[in-house]
Amino acid sequence: MNDEIKKSRLSVLSSHLTRLPPASSLMASEKEAALAAAPSDSPTIFDKIINKEIPATVVYEDDKVLAFRDIAPQAPTHILIIPKSKDGLTGLSKAEERHCEILGCLLYTAKLVAKQEGLEDGFRIVINDGPKGCQSVYHIHVHLLGGRQMNWPPG
Ligand code: AMP
Repeated sequence: MNDEIKKSRLSVLSSHLTRLPPASSLMASEKEAALAAAPSDSPTIFDKIINKEIPATVVYEDDKVLAFRDIAPQAPTHILIIPKSKDGLTGLSKAEERHCEILGCLLYTAKLVAKQEGLEDGFRIVINDGPKGCQSVYHIHVHLLGGRQMNWPPG
C-alpha cells in the first residue's frame, strides 16, 4: 500500500474516532443522569414504551415482560428486560415476597434473549439500584450485556 493511500485511510479512521465522545464523558453523563433522577413511583419512559407511545426495538414480548434494545448501548448487545406491570417495583430495593415471580421471569427472559441473541460464550446481567447504583429509570429493569469481553471489577 503506498503512503498516500495509508494517509487517507488513517485520516478517515481518525475522523470517525474523533466523533466518538471519550468513554469517561459517557460514564460521567450516565452518572449525572442517575444522580438527577429522583426515585419515584410515577410513570416513566418505560411505560410509554410498554404502551407503544414511543418506539423501541422490541426483541421479546409476552404477557408479563418486554425486552428491547437500550438506546445508549454499552456493549454490542445491550437489552433491557422490564415487567409490563411494575407493581411498586421501581427498583430491586423495593422488592417484596409477592414480587418473586416477576423477578424470576425477568431473569429467565434474560436467559432466553441471550440465547436468541447468540450469546453462547457468556453475557452479563446488571440491575442498577438507586442513585449510588446509577439507576436512572425507576421501573425495575435488567440489563443484558454481551458481544464483548466484560471486565471485573465493574465501574
Ligand atoms: P438505569 O441507568 O439502570 O436506570 O438504566 C436505564 C437505561 O434506560 C439506560 O441504559 C438508558 O440508556 C435506557 N433508556 C432510556 N431511555 C430509553 C429509551 N427510550 N429506549 C431505550 N432505552 C432507554
